Amino acid sequence: MVTSDSSVLNPDLTLSRETRDVAAPGPGEVLVRIKSVGVCGSDVHYYKHGRIGDFVVTQPMILGHESSGVIEAVGDGVDPARVGERVSLEPGVPCLGSPETLAGKYNLDPDVRFFATPPYDGTFCENVVHPASFCYPVPDGLSDDAAALLEPLSVAIAANEAGQTGLGARVLIAGAGPVGLLCAQVARLAGATTVTLTDVRAERLEVAASYGATETVVAGQPLGDGYTVFIDASGAEPAVLAGLRALAPAGRAVLVGMGADTVALPVPLVQGRELVITGTFRYRNTWPRAIAIAPQVNLDGLVTSRHGLDDIAGALDAAVAPGALKAVVTP
Ligand code: ZN
Repeated sequence: MVTSDSSVLNPDLTLSRETRDVAAPGPGEVLVRIKSVGVCGSDVHYYKHGRIGDFVVTQPMILGHESSGVIEAVGDGVDPARVGERVSLEPGVPCLGSPETLAGKYNLDPDVRFFATPPYDGTFCENVVHPASFCYPVPDGLSDDAAALLEPLSVAIAANEAGQTGLGARVLIAGAGPVGLLCAQVARLAGATTVTLTDVRAERLEVAASYGATETVVAGQPLGDGYTVFIDASGAEPAVLAGLRALAPAGRAVLVGMGADTVALPVPLVQGRELVITGTFRYRNTWPRAIAIAPQVNLDGLVTSRHGLDDIAGALDAAVAPGALKAVVTP
């Protein structure tokens, strides 16, 4: 029996260390030794508030969903040659027969099992069992941290896909956190010639140029107009409204950031310019593209601190400290 040293978030929002038994991988599954896990805003939110919307921590749960590792054992039907393979883990596993999965939109399956979303455990632990087809081999040149950060890169790919960022696109991105910075890099790779990044904190914009932004604007300062794509990675109502106003006719707005539950919609603007407003829920079919573009994306530069399993509280605090981009847990 394999065991897994784990950091567990309890319903009273304390963290404790547990050694858990890990079942042998079943058919189509692999056992993965976790190497690196990025700390996400959602992990911090569960730690501080015990819930995100309808998802509530009612039983002890392991946080962490941006993960990479090495395959240690395989179940029936999985090529034994995969043992030793370095992999990036796609965290959400849908039901094969759900209408959404059959329609090709598996991320929208309401019964998707997603790491660190109650009641499912995440990866702030040594070992996990996961479907082999959701563990993607990564090239040697990609670090363990970068392989873990293919998850937020996937968010950025999905956002630009929803915005239809293409050659010559003028892209406005609100929020210069990890997702905003990755959206900027993906936009440039997708052919955008203008990428404007905004944030309320001027100091967060200092690194923007090294992440693909062609210009920066401190939130609240005058913005240009004529943008073809607006991606909100801030979740702030003023940023969403400013972004909609900056869009050209037939522009597309993609709401990625979580924060404001409601935004007062400027209806005449949306009608007069025929704006398209959409959201993205995580991502689908992004890992192969994330792996393909990873050599051209600054992923390792996002890592601002590193923590062991004995310092998950420190990791969760460091993730939202001033100047932080990505805290990484290395079990
Ligand atoms: Zn995340």
